[in-house]
Amino acid sequence: MQTNNKIFITKAKDVSQFNYEVDVIVCGYGGAGGCAALESFRSGAKTLVLERASDGGGSTALSSCEMYLGGSGGTSLQTACGFEDSTENMIGYIEASLEGKGDSKKIQLYAENSADHFEWIKSLGVTYKEAAHLGRIVVPESNESLLYTGNERVSPFCELAEPVPRGHVPSHEGDFGGKIFFDALKQEINSSDIEISCDSRVKGLVINDNNEIVGVAFKKDNLMQYAKANKGVILSAGGFVMNEEMIASYLPFQTKFAAPYGNPWDKGDGIQMGISMNANIINMDEAFFGVYFYPPESLTNGIFVNAEGKRFVNEDSYGARIGYFCSQQQDQKIYMVIQNEDFNPSIYMNKLPILAVAETIDELEIEAGFEPGSISSTISAYNLFAKNGEDQDFKKDPKWLKEFSKPPFAIIDYSFENQASPAYSDRNGPLMFTLGGLETLPSGEVLDVDGNIIPKLYAAGRTTAGLPRTGKGYASGMSVGDATFFGRMAGISAANNS
Ligand SMILES: Cc1cc2nc3c(=O)[nH]c(=O)nc-3n(C[C@H](O)[C@H](O)[C@H](O)COP(=O)(O)OP(=O)(O)OC[C@H]3O[C@@H](n4cnc5c(N)ncnc54)[C@H](O)[C@@H]3O)c2cc1C
Repeated sequence: MQTNNKIFITKAKDVSQFNYEVDVIVCGYGGAGGCAALESFRSGAKTLVLERASDGGGSTALSSCEMYLGGSGGTSLQTACGFEDSTENMIGYIEASLEGKGDSKKIQLYAENSADHFEWIKSLGVTYKEAAHLGRIVVPESNESLLYTGNERVSPFCELAEPVPRGHVPSHEGDFGGKIFFDALKQEINSSDIEISCDSRVKGLVINDNNEIVGVAFKKDNLMQYAKANKGVILSAGGFVMNEEMIASYLPFQTKFAAPYGNPWDKGDGIQMGISMNANIINMDEAFFGVYFYPPESLTNGIFVNAEGKRFVNEDSYGARIGYFCSQQQDQKIYMVIQNEDFNPSIYMNKLPILAVAETIDELEIEAGFEPGSISSTISAYNLFAKNGEDQDFKKDPKWLKEFSKPPFAIIDYSFENQASPAYSDRNGPLMFTLGGLETLPSGEVLDVDGNIIPKLYAAGRTTAGLPRTGKGYASGMSVGDATFFGRMAGISAANNS
């Protein structure tokens, strides 16, 4: 059977010789695959990892490696920094932030075990500094390891769950968490008997005459090779953000304005392999993308308006939630109004046009080409909220409610078409990665379109629809936390398959 993106099924009878025979084959050596392989090996299974690139790492090694962890009274880092975090509180927050789209079983297992998962990560030799950065930050450039990475302190979520910081990032100066984590994981794997084959693109599954999975076909050294798996195959090949055909088909809305964020082999191969076995794919229309404008956090004192000069979000929200609401505005045209004393250039302000600077809001809106009275009426209402300490429209925390009273004022054009991200992409627009994929049980077992378990098939990470299910409710750390934790679950399940 031929499927999209040159993924195909091979009949075992057509395979003259298997180059490997193992218990468990892991397809893709990133965060999910590396953790799956290690747990599979530690559970006693002979394990082979096939990786398309010349080394492991994937998007996980590129990432900041913030992991969203907590519960069980608090991780050792949360506790050391003086925070308590019950499992119920963590579940309450994640359920609320995903607004009914979360997988309750996965959320529960994750919340119950993520404090232990943190100890497992530390046991690899990843170091964390027992200090918290409690300001508004995306990745600390200093080396504190605990931070708020979602909307915990933001209305309505702060009313539904006790705000607790859950972002855990390896200790470092700068943004190298993924490399620190992956180097430690790789060192552990290298000291085991796990077989790693790089430059090996898995091209599809091998099945017998009863349609049961027997192994995989992969291309290496320009030759088609085959590996037999006696217990299971784990698909951990990342997401599909680099597959233009797939994003056009599943994410037509986001594809209009967002730029891909990931490693070049986020081509959806793992998902396509699942589809070739009739696997169910879910949540394919959801992607993470964010509008990051802080630090400096003083910019939070500004307001975002659309082309009609109207506010549309509480500006103290996490960048992904802001990004979602920005995407809902006509043509994704959005503007920040800010007063001089709060303006400080941000690293995220790369090449954004400043449309106007003026002594009064009336002058500002005219100079920037807005309808007279549009922004000024928004500011009048906002100034009243600031005076009374209550944002009646969006419930922005009073901490960030500041009257616009000290000119000059400025309007910065944050419209998506202006958001340049040259470090990652040759396209403008906020950066996105995908949140849809194979439907799996918390054990990593893959379900088919009728809800049945596909024997011997497991998956984890962005090849699956995992813990993070919406861009709007995303908190940084949900993806690497999910990939590494559920990668481990898949490794244990496959190794124990009899
Ligand atoms: C710059 C950046 C920063 C980020 N920061 C964070 C963060 O701080 N916290 C967070 O939670 N998320 C973050 N993310 C998102 C997060 O890194 C990813 O969603 C997550 O790491 C995906 O893990 P994974 O194991 O599913 O995939 P990956 O880590 O990408 O691993 C997939 C592997 O599969 C391989 N592969 C693909 N196809 C095949 C094939 N056919 N055969 C064999 N191998 C194949 C790939 O080469 C890759 O090595 C960030 C993303 C980026 C790009």
